[in-house]
Amino acid sequence: MAQVNGNYLKLKAGYLFPEIARRVKAFCDANPEAPIIRLGIGDVTEPLPEACRNAMKAAIDEMGSREGFHGYGPEQGYPWLREAIAKNDFQSRGCQITAEEIFVSDGSKCDSSNILDILGEGNRIAVTDPVYPVYVDSNVMAGRTGDADEVGRYGGLTYLPITAANSFTAEIPTEKVDLIYLCFPNNPTGAVATKSQLQGWVDYARANDALILFDAAYEAFIQDPELPHSIYEISGARECAIEFRSFSKNAGFTGTRCALTVVPRGLMGTAANGEKVELWALWNRRQCTKFNGVSYIVQRGAEAVYSLEGQGQVKALVAFYMQNAAIIRRELTAAGIEVFGGEQAPYVWLKTPKNFDSWAFFDHLLGNAHVVGTPGSGFGAAGEGYFRLSAFNSLANVDEAMRRIRAL
Ligand SMILES: *Cc1c(COP(=O)(O)O)cnc(C)c1O
Repeated sequence: MAQVNGNYLKLKAGYLFPEIARRVKAFCDANPEAPIIRLGIGDVTEPLPEACRNAMKAAIDEMGSREGFHGYGPEQGYPWLREAIAKNDFQSRGCQITAEEIFVSDGSKCDSSNILDILGEGNRIAVTDPVYPVYVDSNVMAGRTGDADEVGRYGGLTYLPITAANSFTAEIPTEKVDLIYLCFPNNPTGAVATKSQLQGWVDYARANDALILFDAAYEAFIQDPELPHSIYEISGARECAIEFRSFSKNAGFTGTRCALTVVPRGLMGTAANGEKVELWALWNRRQCTKFNGVSYIVQRGAEAVYSLEGQGQVKALVAFYMQNAAIIRRELTAAGIEVFGGEQAPYVWLKTPKNFDSWAFFDHLLGNAHVVGTPGSGFGAAGEGYFRLSAFNSLANVDEAMRRIRAL
């Protein structure tokens, strides 16, 4: 019999979302009439922007002619999309990122996992707690951790608690780490980092030869013009950071699939013999060998995000979800619940009332309000006693969910 990858056997039972699905299904089977409202999983709900749909329809028609047909595209993405991204997302904010440094992909969940392909086994890895589970589980699968303890913390990882005391942005580690995962605006806490906070991380990374893996999937939700959208707005970040971005949350591409990773030229890692190696070249090689690019049609759809109509439509989508977030914050606060986040991110992070633990509050909300949220403890031990509600839903559902929670 073929041997399996034993690292998978170290994974703590059940990824968070399958466990939620299991409990919701059990509840629905027992209560088929209950009108469930899902504010749990971080998936968008509103239709794709018209500009994107029109661009994809036109691309499909092009593909129907001999002249307009596209087979395999460049593994790194089409130059016109990489140019549009570099110009609109980075250069417009003063970041010196070029098209060559943009790698278009089918998702930043995969990119943030796949990046481990080009990184060595001996790195000391820091993650926040709570954290987007993908960063941890991908390291477990790649054999970069030890076993999990009772609360689900893996040996070999450095956990940086994010709590109300540090306004949900982690403290800079006191020990030396080599790899740091940061996600701002944050999933799950909805917190955001200021320029000076990010400068602290960049300074730490440069002083310690560490690499920052910066997940900016939610940058479009930032409302405060003073806040940084990209790690490259911080001086020195080109020498120590890779950034992940996605069209999933701003433009509703969760089912359409398009994202990008920025690997600056001249960003170096170290080989076992001490030689410096350019990470760009390794990632380029990895993508060329293991990835065959994003569909031409989808890349045309993503390009339309940067058109005048597309920009307006994406802004409207973001404003819509942020209005939901404001309602959630307002109503929970009125219900006497302590809330965080939801001002620069589509997630509200709440302190569970009456000392409910996270899963008990999940069951309480599901059983009595028929509202599905996400238990904070599912994102890490320090998330215990917290709960995440997502603003990704219709206004009617958000209003109704809040009415039910207030009536509890
Ligand atoms: C949703 C999300 C992404 C986007 O993932 P895709 O694979 O591009 O859909 C990335 N990071 C975080 C933290 C997310 O919540």
